[in-house]
Amino acid sequence: MFDSLSGRLAGVLTDLRGKGKLSDADIDRTCREIRLALLEADVSLTVVRGFIARIKERAKGAEVSGALNPAQQVVKIVNEELVGILGGETRRIQFAKTPPTVIMLAGLQGAGKTTLAGKLAAWLKKQGHTPILVACDLQRPGAVSQLQIVGERAGVPVFAPNPGTSIGGTGELGVSGSAGAGSLTEPIEVARSGVAEARSKQHDVVIVDTAGRLGIDEELMAQAKGIRDAVEPDEVLFVLDAMIGQDAVATAEAFAQGVDFTGVVLTKLDGDARGGAALSVREITGRPIMFASTGEKLEDFDVFHPDRMSSRILGMGDVLSLIEQAETHWDVQQAEAAANKITQGELTLEDFLEQMLMIRKMGPIGNLLGMLPGAAGMKDALSQVDDKQLDKVQAIIRGMTPAERENPKIINGSRRARIANGSGVTVSDVNQLVDRFFDARKMMSQMAGRMGMPGARKNNR
Ligand code: GDP
Repeated sequence: MFDSLSGRLAGVLTDLRGKGKLSDADIDRTCREIRLALLEADVSLTVVRGFIARIKERAKGAEVSGALNPAQQVVKIVNEELVGILGGETRRIQFAKTPPTVIMLAGLQGAGKTTLAGKLAAWLKKQGHTPILVACDLQRPGAVSQLQIVGERAGVPVFAPNPGTSIGGTGELGVSGSAGAGSLTEPIEVARSGVAEARSKQHDVVIVDTAGRLGIDEELMAQAKGIRDAVEPDEVLFVLDAMIGQDAVATAEAFAQGVDFTGVVLTKLDGDARGGAALSVREITGRPIMFASTGEKLEDFDVFHPDRMSSRILGMGDVLSLIEQAETHWDVQQAEAAANKITQGELTLEDFLEQMLMIRKMGPIGNLLGMLPGAAGMKDALSQVDDKQLDKVQAIIRGMTPAERENPKIINGSRRARIANGSGVTVSDVNQLVDRFFDARKMMSQMAGRMGMPGARKNNR
């Protein structure tokens, strides 16, 4: 899911890299491309419009940040807005003050309600709850027995009508651990009795599975509403198949008006559909996405975290955490001073050490590089990047006197031997560091000259 959207967005944002400053035209073009990518992924037009307007406004008004380059700043804004349309904070189940907590599932037939009932029950059980499932889908042949099988798999009891009593029932199995609803034939009655059963047997959560139809219809809504009014659920979860594309928005709106719900569960996120419509559901209905289902197995299920989903969609690897760390640890003035010295060809080993320490504050260097987009394919190369080598560089520079760090040109043969001795390395290690430093300083200064940075000198050594 979201693969092509993710690829497109990553492409658009990567194109910005290397730009020193973003003009309004750059921002307009980027926004146009993001807009197209979202529309092609089926994100609803209303949602896209608001999203793009906010990004444009924020990107154009963005204050220049010392820690982030313009491209990173746009990534940050896009990410924050995406987290926003996905709901912002992670929304947890609100448990009733006096148990049992009643959770009702609603949605179209085939959305994945029954499967979800099992997943949710297993998940709650793992957290120490004692859930019971209630089978109120008496419409679809086999729905009751399907829930019983799911319940058995999850290791939780199922409250269900006896075999043969459901409309269209196909001889439900007498699965062990199930509680019988006797000859009840009305879904509303089953729901009510299920909650009573939970109370008497001290189950602290009741999950009520309801009937769905292939399309929205009045009877379906009336029944779901009837169940809701009868059991007064603490949470009504609208289960939405992320594969249904554009219909997702209309379906969500119909359920919001017909039954109303407190949260959304996106299912089939493992599919390869474009999925953008599902991304619109929070913005359109104002209800949070609470869980995500990503497969047919019980464990293919998780709490929905807007921030993690956004960073997955942006396909930015962990670049977003890199941005966060840079903002926390980057000393803007120090970095600017070093940049000035680079353009002047005056960078000293002392500056170099300071810069290195600043970068290393963000974590092991291999991790930092691993956070860059595209780094996933460079695992082998990255494993060669060794913090020990940096430790060595640090030790060598620390073994120098302040005068040597300030003016490396004075580091002659005898000084090299002393430094090597003092920092526990060989003279050739010291030679290598000093030579590389001069080469790098020259190269950086020349690059600054070519890029037309003011104050850059042509020749430095
Ligand atoms: P219900 O009619 O809403 O109760 O839907 P079901 O729970 O019976 O699910 C319909 C079909 O979708 C079943 O074949 C499930 O195995 C499948 N399904 C449910 N959730 C997921 C999911 O997250 N991913 C995938 N790939 N299939 C799912």
